Amino acid sequence: ITSAITVFRDITERANYEATLEKARILAEKSVRVKDIFLSNVSHEIRTPLNAIIGFTNLLMGEVTDPKSVEYVGYIQYAGKNLLELINDILDFSKIEAGQVHLEKTPVPIRELADEISAIMHHRAVEKGITYEAVLTDGLPEYIETDKLRLTQILLNVCGNAVKFTEKGSVKLCIEPIGEPLNDVQNIRFEVKDTGVGIPKDKIKEVFNRFVQATESTTRVFGGTGLGLSIVKSLVQLFDGTLNLESELGKGSVFTMDFPFKVVKEADLQDEVVEE
Ligand code: ADP
Repeated sequence: ITSAITVFRDITERANYEATLEKARILAEKSVRVKDIFLSNVSHEIRTPLNAIIGFTNLLMGEVTDPKSVEYVGYIQYAGKNLLELINDILDFSKIEAGQVHLEKTPVPIRELADEISAIMHHRAVEKGITYEAVLTDGLPEYIETDKLRLTQILLNVCGNAVKFTEKGSVKLCIEPIGEPLNDVQNIRFEVKDTGVGIPKDKIKEVFNRFVQATESTTRVFGGTGLGLSIVKSLVQLFDGTLNLESELGKGSVFTMDFPFKVVKEADLQDEVVEE
């Protein structure tokens, strides 16, 4: 060897920069967690007295007779229920965001799930003078392994919105298999179609963000918190599903959700019953 070259590069600044970035990331994560825990605690603390207010207002409603008092108690009742809905949504949302919601899967009969949703939706639709129908396509497995409570929550939210934002016409829930099952996993599509007010093009992505409503007048006309769809979006992710929205102002909306579900076979079903 006649010569050698050694190159020194001062990477202190770069190392410092990366360390600062990492610190900022950890801090940001921590602050999100603290905020979620705070929201969850505060919501819980508000819920208890609020339930008392609503409970006693209900009792009072049965006692008062003069029209002015009935009107005022009615306002308290309405405002209390709205506030409770908001608190429940915030609580649920912060729990999901904080990773505190875990799916509890059991064999679920799809038809029974659809019937339970229909029972609620049909009633709401009749009250509004519109129609609700559920269509289950041939080829669906009888039982899927899923978290019935959370899947019901997703569908009630989306179907509930469809009924809420439809003044005339219909709401239709279609459940259909997509392709053939692979390793006992079947993709199933839930499509909720309405002939309602629709969503402006520039708001289609935004409505899945928390507290966003498509129009300024939505709360005034239809009520609501603007949290339902953000809860739906997070829950769909938890189910490893996908969510798509197509909508045309004044014509209606179509929410499409695809989920991979493990198919439960008849024989496995009997094993579960024996195990219980
Ligand atoms: P909200 O409590 O207001 O219903 P969501 O998060 O469930 O909150 O929905 C957000 C907004 O998306 C609603 O306020 C409404 O403007 C719009 N939206 C949701 N579903 C529909 C629908 N089926 N038709 C028209 N607009 C809808």
